[in-house]
Amino acid sequence: MNKGFIKNLFTLCAIVISFNSFSSDKEITVYSSRTAHLIEPLLDAFTKDTGIKAKLLTGDGNALIERIKLEGESTHADIFMTVDAGNLWYAGSQDIFQPMKSETVISNIPNHLRDPEDLWTGLSVRARTIVYSTERVNADELSTYEDLASKKWKRRLCLRTSKKIYNKSLVASLIHHLGEEGAGKVVEGWVNNLATSPHSKDSKVMEAIISGQCDVGIVNTYYYLDQMKKTPNAQLKLFWPNQKTTGVHVNISGAGIVKHSKHIKESQKLIDYLTGIKAQQIYMSLNSEYPANPNVKSVSLDRELGTFNQDKMNLSQTGILQSEAVKLMQRKKYK
Ligand code: FE
Repeated sequence: MNKGFIKNLFTLCAIVISFNSFSSDKEITVYSSRTAHLIEPLLDAFTKDTGIKAKLLTGDGNALIERIKLEGESTHADIFMTVDAGNLWYAGSQDIFQPMKSETVISNIPNHLRDPEDLWTGLSVRARTIVYSTERVNADELSTYEDLASKKWKRRLCLRTSKKIYNKSLVASLIHHLGEEGAGKVVEGWVNNLATSPHSKDSKVMEAIISGQCDVGIVNTYYYLDQMKKTPNAQLKLFWPNQKTTGVHVNISGAGIVKHSKHIKESQKLIDYLTGIKAQQIYMSLNSEYPANPNVKSVSLDRELGTFNQDKMNLSQTGILQSEAVKLMQRKKYK
């Protein structure tokens, strides 16, 4: 073998190695339980603004957590993204995240929407609130989630199933605020007031109110907006409960950096980016979710739905109290 050939081989190897490290440095992989049409526009904006590519792999949240665990150190996942703090907390409990060290996240996202150990952060806010028939209910009659347990709502309430994480988190917040006994009384009252058996979806709750089967329910605001697009003449309105007490129950979609990520710096850049003004506005326009960053104003949502005070309970509580919430709902026969 002549010297020139060996030299060329070395040069070629060096190029391949540097190309590989360059390309891997500049591409991160996001595992997401959120559908591609909601996340891709955010990743595209990020790539355009930073030059860092982001690949998306979508799937069922629990399956993705299992996959990250199985892949261990060889995982390609840099970021795990999902909805509901209960799910984020569960992912944290499965040891798939590493703590973030980001001044940007800390200054953009309020404390109550972040994990106390910085394993995950909220990126958008969803509010779970009361919906009512304007034909059969006067807004003055409404006040709190707890009040929906009172006798005046007998056979007038519709709820989504307790199996849905949104309701597990809501009941976890009741346990946090009222204690187990107080929360138990509320859930028992809700079950006694049900007009129909629990529904599979928020949209079914609203359809039941529209069709006159019940008068009040609890839904996430973006489902209400979807419903009003489909049935603009529906006599249906949202009410912001607990405004003099604990505030409206909110939850988040959010993300954390995977423990065995090979691109921690770039991953942090993406999470930082998603908490910024531009990305927060994209979240609002794609799914009518509220910004998690309070410096971003939700002008058009506020115009349509009015403003509200949100519950400031740290959302890690929805995870910590989740199994207690599930047991409580089983005991009270909330199906
Ligand atoms: Fe949803």
